[in-house]
Amino acid sequence: MGSIAETQKPHAICIPYPAQGHINPMMKLAKLLYCRGFHISFVNNHYNHKRLLRSRGPSSLEGLPDFHFYSIPDGLPPSDAEATQSIPALCESVPKHSLEPFCELITRLNGSGVPPVSCIISDGCMSFTLQAADRFGLPEVLFWTPSTCGVLAYSRYRDLVQKGYVPLKDMSDVTNGYFETSLDWIPEMKNIRLKDFPSFIRTMDINDVMLNYLMTESEAIPRGLAVILNTFDALEQDSVKPLLAMNPNIFTIGPLQMMQQYVHDDRLKHIGSNLWKEDVSCISWLDTKKPGSVVYVNFGSITVMTKEQLIEFGWGLANSKKDFLWITRPDIVGGDEAMMPPEFVDETKGRGMVTSWCPQEEVIKHPSIGVFLTHNGWNSTIESISNGVPMICWPFFAEQQTNCRYCCVEWGVGMEIDTDVKREEVEAQVREMMDGEKGRMMKTNAVEWKKKAEEAVAIGGSSYLNFEKLVSDVLLKK
Ligand code: UDP
Repeated sequence: MGSIAETQKPHAICIPYPAQGHINPMMKLAKLLYCRGFHISFVNNHYNHKRLLRSRGPSSLEGLPDFHFYSIPDGLPPSDAEATQSIPALCESVPKHSLEPFCELITRLNGSGVPPVSCIISDGCMSFTLQAADRFGLPEVLFWTPSTCGVLAYSRYRDLVQKGYVPLKDMSDVTNGYFETSLDWIPEMKNIRLKDFPSFIRTMDINDVMLNYLMTESEAIPRGLAVILNTFDALEQDSVKPLLAMNPNIFTIGPLQMMQQYVHDDRLKHIGSNLWKEDVSCISWLDTKKPGSVVYVNFGSITVMTKEQLIEFGWGLANSKKDFLWITRPDIVGGDEAMMPPEFVDETKGRGMVTSWCPQEEVIKHPSIGVFLTHNGWNSTIESISNGVPMICWPFFAEQQTNCRYCCVEWGVGMEIDTDVKREEVEAQVREMMDGEKGRMMKTNAVEWKKKAEEAVAIGGSSYLNFEKLVSDVLLKK
């Protein structure tokens, strides 16, 4: 991947949705573009910008002549909290309050002596930026960071409403069997049920913020000059195809963490995007463990659970007698401290490490990891698949339900745990995954997917070629 003379540099302004699972893949894309000769302006909201400064230190956001960070307001009250902002509050506020500051930033950049902004790379869930693209006459590409099956499901939300499935008549519909309804009129999502649809359909209110947000955002897919997806064809071709009817310019360029092999500039290494400070000591702890012997437990940046659920997970892990690395964010238990009782700590001494945030990509590729107990956020899911690690799935919200379905049924790499988690189920699934026949099969499948992912990102592979095409045919097109 060559570079372009300084004077002719194209300038991509990259704007992620303000949450960890969106910032990380956008950062990976920005680094790839940088290595392809782009000047990069990376735009966070003030809140996350401050968090990055705290978690990684000021030097992590400066030092490269052509890679700069900026921040704009999101309309929410200022806060120094160490937690993900409310997603519905962001969805209501950002489109109203970030457009003008975003346009002012573009104007400022264009007069600041750096190459003029030549394209916008916006999160697919931030379609208000298309108005900025129109105003400045700039090409805009939409980067949808969830799974393609998830994006496809969002694009069907309107149909669910029109056919009368949503809003629900009664919230007990979620538990009384109604959600087992098969949606056989969506043939491109094989045997899909209401239960497997992204969770925002679980509402009785037609004006529900999240339902409407995702409906509107997915309907903006045709308005992007192109759409980028963090997946690879072998894995999600069947979900990509129906989306082509909405936008023929779809580029599958994932898994983006594997595409980082083309990020050759070492100076980019210190630019990270984790909003929490990473506890790197877990890597040396993992070094002391046997290959495939550790259960890695992490529910990402947004999941919250009850104290009871936390305790069930804890005792399930303890009773499985396996080693485990368990990441519990300080705010993982809604309104309460994430504390396990002293008996749990005594019981698991020496074989359990509990900490609040880790460098997940390093953890998941560590040879000691045998299984990932995950909430099925898309980044976690594709990071697991890319490393040949099978999953125990406990989806929380958004398209995690859809990812879980595909992991368990389509890709053969996961087993689901009931929402109402019980310690016996956790123990049994951990044992099955680590020692059982089913677990062995899932591991074999996961390793197969890893090979296919490697092929996709290798020189001449589908994701490699799509990235090249995206750059030459869309982003650099005069
Ligand atoms: N992550 C991490 N350390 C942690 C937890 C998460 O580095 O302790 C990263 C993980 O690698 C992934 C992102 O944070 O890239 C979480 O995104 P995901 O889509 O899995 O879940 P979300 O946080 O959006 O629910």
